[in-house]
Amino acid sequence: MAARDRYSRKLECARCGHSGFADASENDDKRDGDIGFRIDDMPVGFRPERPSGNPAEFMIRCNCGNVFRFLQKTIYAPGGEPRRRNA
Ligand SMILES: [Zn+2]
Repeated sequence: MAARDRYSRKLECARCGHSGFADASENDDKRDGDIGFRIDDMPVGFRPERPSGNPAEFMIRCNCGNVFRFLQKTIYAPGGEPRRRNA
């Protein structure tokens, strides 16, 4: 029985600023393209929008309606976020 890598990652909504820590885990034995990623404990205010075994594709929805990836490729410095487009 393979062990699993467990870690916490801070989730932060870029739209409303809500944040919380998710407990996630991955297979210790990572095979090509399948690391068995999953979120074991989702912080209050967030829920899975499109679960995936790949953390770069796991989509999370905030209570405010914003959807973002668990692994966000771009980290913006405070105050450096792109302007939101208003319809
Ligand atoms: Zn939000």
